[in-house]
Amino acid sequence: HIYLDNAATTPMAPEVIATMTEQMQADFGNASSTHYFGRQAHTVLDTSRHTLAQSIHAKDNELILTSGATESNNTAILQTAKLRAKEGKRIITTAIEHHSVLKPMAYLETQGFDVIYLPVNEQGVIDLADLKAALTPETILVSIMMGNNEVGSHMPIHEIGELVRDSNAWFHTDATQTYGLLDIDVQADNIDLLAVSAHKINGPKQIGFLYVNDAIHLPSFVLGGEQEKKRRAGTENVPAVAGFAKAVELLTPAVKADLQARYAGFKQQLLADLKANDIDFALNAEGADQVGHVVNLWIKGVSTYVLQMNLDLAGFAISGGSACTAGDLEPSHVLIAMYGEDSPRVAESIRISFGHETSSEDVAAFAEALTKIVKRNLAKQAAKG
Ligand code: PMP
Repeated sequence: HIYLDNAATTPMAPEVIATMTEQMQADFGNASSTHYFGRQAHTVLDTSRHTLAQSIHAKDNELILTSGATESNNTAILQTAKLRAKEGKRIITTAIEHHSVLKPMAYLETQGFDVIYLPVNEQGVIDLADLKAALTPETILVSIMMGNNEVGSHMPIHEIGELVRDSNAWFHTDATQTYGLLDIDVQADNIDLLAVSAHKINGPKQIGFLYVNDAIHLPSFVLGGEQEKKRRAGTENVPAVAGFAKAVELLTPAVKADLQARYAGFKQQLLADLKANDIDFALNAEGADQVGHVVNLWIKGVSTYVLQMNLDLAGFAISGGSACTAGDLEPSHVLIAMYGEDSPRVAESIRISFGHETSSEDVAAFAEALTKIVKRNLAKQAAKG
């Protein structure tokens, strides 16, 4: 089986597994304990936190370790709303956010908040003029993702940061799909809150962080002990944090540059192969500044379901939209926002996402398998008349 679903999750790097195994055996102590074992665990926590903070140009005390991007997004949105409700009840987001942003927003709407969902164009990008027009003095939060998980489009984060800086609002960004591939600088981009997850960058699952600018004091989302400087209760998962930091260490500037170049090459190769095989397709979010590892294709005339099922049978793991929506056959809210609900793209698109292990041979084999499946299904449809 060939894995081309790295936007859903990635395999753990061998170095990450080695680091975590070592931690689990050696430093099992509770990082809050004051004895030797606790101090050992706490040291690992501190050094790991430093690595993670450096990776986005933040200070160590600006990171809250969480169970992943879902918790980070929930914390950023719900706790900002709780803290700032007296200042205003208006929040701005986009129509194509991940559900871990959209669901807290929907909840806030039931609590009297006014949530503005900015539309996106066919590239999956907002119009800055729309954001400017929507930003009122009552706006307390702007939550706009850095890179989209379904189509790979990239938002103009620097420009958004500048607009929000000159307003009353705080700027939160879900950087889950760009972290580890692009350079992120929370200071240069005026980002107040930022969510990431380790399992998208060959680290372990259920660990991530929320960056919170140190001028902001969010109330704790998880109540209990005094971990994370009273900002997130619960005994820290030290091996997971160490594994997360190891995954980040592996992503040197040279590695990132190499990955970006390889992914761009794979994408070109895939599109060229399908074209050469006379497949009638279009790239979704064509022309957008893209994250790099995500390619979303509209395969004209064949349903997402048929493509996904047959590719699985042929040994290729891809996704129809995002992993979270694929299971329940809900149409993609991202493609609907980009092309409208009547567009055939909504029902005939697949997402391919490359990872560290992807090779040019994998891409060639995938293009061949997809071609066979598409031709067979179109022939079947033609025969049925
Ligand atoms: N945001 C985005 C853009 C994502 O792609 C994901 C993972 N599908 C999440 C948030 C949720 O991350 P986690 O799995 O760490 O909760």
